[in-house]
Amino acid sequence: MKAEIIAVGSELLLGQITNTNAKFISARLAEVGIDVLYQTVVGDNPLRLRKTIEVAQNRVDLIIFTGGLGPTKDDLTKETIANILHTELESNADALDSIEKYFQRTGRTMTENNRKQALVLLGSSVLVNRNGMAPGMAVEQDGSHYILLPGPPHEMQPMFEDEAIPYLLDKLGKREVIVSRVLKFYGIGEAELEFRIQTILAEQTNPTVAPLATSEAVTLRLTAKAESIEQAEQLIGPVEKQIRNLVGEFIYGLDEDTLSSKAAELLRERRLTIAAAESLTAGLFMSELANEPGISSSLIGGIVVYNEKTKVEQLNIPMELLEEFGVVSGECASALASQVKRKFASDIGIGLTGAAGPDPHDGEPMGTVWVGISIGNAPIKTFKLQLSGSRNANRKRAANFALYYLIL
Ligand code: ATP
Ligand code: MG
Repeated sequence: MKAEIIAVGSELLLGQITNTNAKFISARLAEVGIDVLYQTVVGDNPLRLRKTIEVAQNRVDLIIFTGGLGPTKDDLTKETIANILHTELESNADALDSIEKYFQRTGRTMTENNRKQALVLLGSSVLVNRNGMAPGMAVEQDGSHYILLPGPPHEMQPMFEDEAIPYLLDKLGKREVIVSRVLKFYGIGEAELEFRIQTILAEQTNPTVAPLATSEAVTLRLTAKAESIEQAEQLIGPVEKQIRNLVGEFIYGLDEDTLSSKAAELLRERRLTIAAAESLTAGLFMSELANEPGISSSLIGGIVVYNEKTKVEQLNIPMELLEEFGVVSGECASALASQVKRKFASDIGIGLTGAAGPDPHDGEPMGTVWVGISIGNAPIKTFKLQLSGSRNANRKRAANFALYYLIL
């Protein structure tokens, strides 16, 4: 099977967004043995889209579209394809149902536009969208395959993985199953990770090991092909173990795990309560933890003590300590952690202080962060970070590092 990817969207041509969808789809198709011969970008224009499709029909047998499935007037992908294939759009009951539920859930009123999103090509297989409203579609005509996917990557990627790949494997008559496991890292850069596991990266073919950096984490995806899920997992197991032997201390979770979900899980399982005293992060740490439903049994409270005065008055941090060591110090982080633990009578106290930037603070350069963690009667642990991002990136990363140290 030879493929072409057609990304639809004028924003792509204007340079406002990067065509990351083509990159993602190409990489996945290569893994299942489908050659991508062309990647094309076309604007939201039915005539030019039509011409683009006609060219593709003459040179490949699989065309994958992303974008233009939305409710607005400029979203024309499925209408144009229906036209070319001399077929029609029909309303899909399941898709309409899930759109209606979405509106009930969010308390908004549904418009006629939104009904349009439930329209699918007659006779197509519907690809379920778990992260948005527009359903995807797969349809075959005269030996050619057409797959339509939504534009937003967080909708497109899971749909492609869970719906489109199995559809294609089935069409290819492959009995092969594909199992992926994502290892999530924190506290190590992508370059350093690749360096440490370079032999595995170079030699591994089944499972393949592919690094992928997102804004929050560095990840490795292990993808195995086999005849059954069990076999695929048996292939992944030993390679995962080798990786853990080399860089296991940086792995905080798997697949859908996030730093906050792992921290919440740990607190819940050990029945521990936590409180935080936040200076530079001004509540970001607690806000991250509060992403997790049911966290109130663990996160019982906390306090923002942004300047010296509130540190002294609200948490009884001795002024002498601040004068001797400075606010950006392990001593201060440690005192914040132990005092907030006492104030809220929690099992764990977290203290966060630092120089977010752009200016140095108390003689410490921008990006210096101290995290204090006080657990029960154990000696208080402190961690120093030297971050190199912008002010707000540093604040966010400081909060994430505190979650990471908590999980360690
Ligand atoms: P929506 O219902 O959100 O309108 P859609 O299927 O109509 O979805 P588009 O309108 O084409 O998709 O794109 C929506 C958003 O998805 C874009 O603003 C952009 O952020 C993202 N996006 C679209 N195409 C791509 C692409 N090729 N690569 C990366 N991101 C993309
Ligand atoms: Mg759109």
